Amino acid sequence: MKGQVVKVISNLFTVKVNDELYGCRARGRFRKDNIVPVVGDNVVIDIDDNIILDILPRRNILKRPVIANVDMAIIVVSTKHPNLDLNLLDKLISLVTYNDIEPVICLTKLDLLKENELNVVNNVRKYYEMIGIKVFDNTEVTSIKRVIKDKVVVLAGQTGAGKSSLINKLDQGLNVKTDEISKALGRGKHTTRHVELYEIGEGLIADTPGFSALDLDGITRLELRDTFVEFSKYECRFRDCIHNKEKECGVKKAVSDQEILKSRYNNYLLFLEELEKWK
Ligand code: ZN
Repeated sequence: MKGQVVKVISNLFTVKVNDELYGCRARGRFRKDNIVPVVGDNVVIDIDDNIILDILPRRNILKRPVIANVDMAIIVVSTKHPNLDLNLLDKLISLVTYNDIEPVICLTKLDLLKENELNVVNNVRKYYEMIGIKVFDNTEVTSIKRVIKDKVVVLAGQTGAGKSSLINKLDQGLNVKTDEISKALGRGKHTTRHVELYEIGEGLIADTPGFSALDLDGITRLELRDTFVEFSKYECRFRDCIHNKEKECGVKKAVSDQEILKSRYNNYLLFLEELEKWK
């Protein structure tokens, strides 16, 4: 039977097959081969012996916490207290995209904005939508539930951005108190190897505080460039143009023509600089 690992505590794996949960152990061979099933893994299990027989190929794997086959990351972005941080947003979008995960933006605290501030945020919102990223605000619960349906989802974003209140809106039964999301979602149990996906709406959600702390280490300049998906539609003289100091660069022209959001390009240059530091 095929299923998905939804919970790991030490060497005990909870595997969801259709809507049934099975407590399983991993077959001995895995340990010998140094492979361990992780949350999110699609596995083949023997339901008579409660053994995981095989791990199917992974689409991606995150390290903190360890989750495989993540489909989507909801990047929770506060627009006030803390203020809109486009640098962090762009970095998270790049990291998420690099890991072959769909980024979705969820704006919070829009009710705290004055009209002129709201205009600024709406323009930013339009830009990200234009480049193909879904953007919601945290009152659009029905729409968010629709996009997370049948997906393995992680939440990313700074402390205080409103991750826990988003979880509460999506599933009122959970009643996660502000800043207690970690505890409620099992992150308080660092001593045992405990990772769990929670059924929220019809999606499976894990909390990944790790994403905000992740840096761009290990990404090449061209890979970074390609995470800024809107750049690819402009033509440059050089095919390996990284849109920095090159001549006849279509991306730089698009920035000066205000087709590309200036903050996006500036953040890109900052991330490029960060990559140089690791060399
Ligand atoms: Zn270029």
